[in-house]
Amino acid sequence: MALIVHKYGGTSMGSTERIRNVAKRVAKWARAGHQMVVVPSAMSGETNRLLGLAKELSPDLTTPELQRELDMIASTGEQVSVGLLAIALQAEGMRSVSYTGWQVPIETDSSFTKARIQRIDDQRVRADLAEGKVVIITGFQGIDPDGHITTLGRGGSDTSAVAVAAAMKADECLIFTDVDGVYTTDPRIVAEARRLHTISFEEMLEMASLGSKVLQIRSVEFAGKYRVPMRVLSSFTPWDIAIDEEAKSGTLITYEEDEKMEQAVVSGIAFNRDEAKVSVLGVPDKPGIAYQILGPVAEANIDVDVIIQNVSHEGKTDFSFTVHRNDYARTMELLKSTVIPKTGAAALSGDTKICKVSIVGIGMRSHVGVASKMFAALSEEGINVIDEKYMELAVRALHKAFEMDLPPA
Ligand code: ADP
Ligand code: ASP
Ligand code: MG
Repeated sequence: MALIVHKYGGTSMGSTERIRNVAKRVAKWARAGHQMVVVPSAMSGETNRLLGLAKELSPDLTTPELQRELDMIASTGEQVSVGLLAIALQAEGMRSVSYTGWQVPIETDSSFTKARIQRIDDQRVRADLAEGKVVIITGFQGIDPDGHITTLGRGGSDTSAVAVAAAMKADECLIFTDVDGVYTTDPRIVAEARRLHTISFEEMLEMASLGSKVLQIRSVEFAGKYRVPMRVLSSFTPWDIAIDEEAKSGTLITYEEDEKMEQAVVSGIAFNRDEAKVSVLGVPDKPGIAYQILGPVAEANIDVDVIIQNVSHEGKTDFSFTVHRNDYARTMELLKSTVIPKTGAAALSGDTKICKVSIVGIGMRSHVGVASKMFAALSEEGINVIDEKYMELAVRALHKAFEMDLPPA
């Protein structure tokens, strides 16, 4: 008997019919003798719908007070899913019980809309499992030290599932989704993308941090920190597929450096269209300038991704960085009011129509010429700076240039 965590994403929970299928699949695992904890997302589109309602009432939702309310609203999507899944499981003749984040509790810090999990108390869950119940826990949410409901950032149910698996020392965490594993790149953009049987934790972390949405980055960080055995697989196979077969399907995340992996130089391409570029132009190029610009941004709890400082001319330089598009207006505002007057910069500029395309692979460490091949492939397609409208073309060109459609040698 093993303790297994299943996570089901929004599409997998997208209708009552699909929820019934999830229940049948979970029941199959439970009947095989496993203790089951299930972490579902909200039904597809629901979180967007809920956040959209809030936006109709107030377009600017950036204050901590409003962000608290956003979490109050967004967390309800998962509350509905867990209740529905518990009903579906009981209809299958399984004993089951659903919990929200605060009922477990899953304790987080107080950064509303992007809270971090700090502790999970598994007593209640263990007691139910011991009674033979399937336990269903909301993804995406927790409770802060003052009792406020928090959410973990978009796609956060992955993190909830892995964190529960880590806290309970589960034997495996299976992330069921609408694709049958992790591919060399998003199979919805590149038809030739190839499924990887295994991916090293480091590569998965890079893929996720560079924008691949298949797993939320924090779930991969958690998995690495606690070495959670983890697999990404399809929820769209017939629910009654044999467990042995199902348990080997999809993509396994591996932790052993020397394990026989698909050791390609480049193992994947990730992209991200959620970013915006901000440039501070004509800043006096003095030591500490990066800190003067980025310090206030960090204090405002805005995450900075790529940072570029240009070569200086006559003592002045341009300093650019990227932030999430949702933080763009706030960043520009902040720079205008504090950084520009303090640094004596000449001007600000910004671009919200950019995207970031990255190549991923452990093999790159020991190979030269990867970057030049990347830029050559892009220039052959006439792609310069990656304007959002060229993103899909860029991803396809790189996938082909690095022969990622071919099986590894
Ligand atoms: P879920 O609702 O199950 O959490 P997501 O939409 O968050 O599902 O993630 C699955 C999606 O990730 C896939 O439908 C696919 O379009 C996208 N994706 C992006 N990059 C990859 C990749 N390298 N491999 C597989 N899927 C990817
Ligand atoms: N429902 C949340 C979202 O849409 C969390 C998740 O799906 O993982 O972002
Ligand atoms: Mg997801």
